[in-house]
Amino acid sequence: MTTTTHSPADLASLSPAELADWCKGAGLPAFRGKQIFQWIHRGADFPEMSNLPAALREKLAAGAVAQPVHIRTTRVSALDGTVKFLFALADGNCVEGVLMRYHHGCTLCVSTQVGCRMGCAFCASTLDGCVRSLTAGEMLGQILCANRYLAEAGEDNRVHNVVLMGSGEPLDNYDQTCRFLRLLREPEGVNIGLRNVSLSTCGLVDRMRAFAEEGLPVTLSVSLHVPNDEIRRRLMPVANRWPIGDVLAASRHYVEKTGRRVIFEYALVDGVNADPAQAEELAARLRGFQCHVNLIPLNDVPERGLRGVSEAQVRRFLDTLTAHHISATRRREMGDDIEGACGQLRRRELEQVTSDGGQE
Ligand code: SAH
Repeated sequence: MTTTTHSPADLASLSPAELADWCKGAGLPAFRGKQIFQWIHRGADFPEMSNLPAALREKLAAGAVAQPVHIRTTRVSALDGTVKFLFALADGNCVEGVLMRYHHGCTLCVSTQVGCRMGCAFCASTLDGCVRSLTAGEMLGQILCANRYLAEAGEDNRVHNVVLMGSGEPLDNYDQTCRFLRLLREPEGVNIGLRNVSLSTCGLVDRMRAFAEEGLPVTLSVSLHVPNDEIRRRLMPVANRWPIGDVLAASRHYVEKTGRRVIFEYALVDGVNADPAQAEELAARLRGFQCHVNLIPLNDVPERGLRGVSEAQVRRFLDTLTAHHISATRRREMGDDIEGACGQLRRRELEQVTSDGGQE
């Protein structure tokens, strides 16, 4: 694993078999790989790996990284206990994650890139472009940090569900995202089944089609947001590459391949896509489709002059879809008071970090 520049080996990205190989390559017995894998996935760093000889722990720490992510700040919602993390990566970059508590366990919203290059007009994550993609270990590391946070808070709880809806476009970081999903379901690791995972994409059609063949049956969320190409091109540059018909066809292919229904995300933007006529148009497009529509009132993005909608507008849009027998709900918003909601992440957090008083 050691490269010519001698960057530390990224052990959190490796499968048990790869870690066993890595150990063999480093002159260690293969069983050490299993031990190290278990420790890493429990959130431990080398000094805590108590069944490894002290000298080995030191040697490993000098040439490898076990925990590539650390919590830089936390903010807890007074409204619903949602926790927003700012995670620090080894190179000084930061990504955000949001831990939501539901009756059936905790859900963590995980980032896949530092920033994003998709350029959606309403999304704050894309304002500074994509700095870099995360490794699988850095995606996993966000979960390990959240689990550790829960354990240290004395809570008998851990992350049960994962949504790839933080910053970044998961299918623009395809290989590492697939690697991460395979790590998630390792029985000796965090052991999160893929039916507890949602992957959200802005609609990279070629990757959606490839992903359907990976044998990774997560719930696919497609950020559709509009009923036609004209409006979609105004909000989402990706629409210049892939027309909405292709996005829907790839979504249908995913349903056929995996048997999982697709979720369409639809952020209602005042004066852009929220009229009842547009609900009619959407209903016509989705007729007969095994899907569910998640309506989200847009979180205002002042930088782009885009505003959300009133409750009455959400209700009217929802009622129109329901009248056409399209399964739809309004997404419950959590962490409203900590800017935990979609599209508000990272930027403001980074601006606030010095005055935040969050946990270092
Ligand atoms: N790149 C992926 C996943 C990250 S964003 C994607 O596009 O799906 C997760 C969700 O938040 C997407 O549906 C995205 O469109 C939505 N979102 C982004 N900015 C938002 C905002 N200001 N208000 C509401 N939803 C927003």
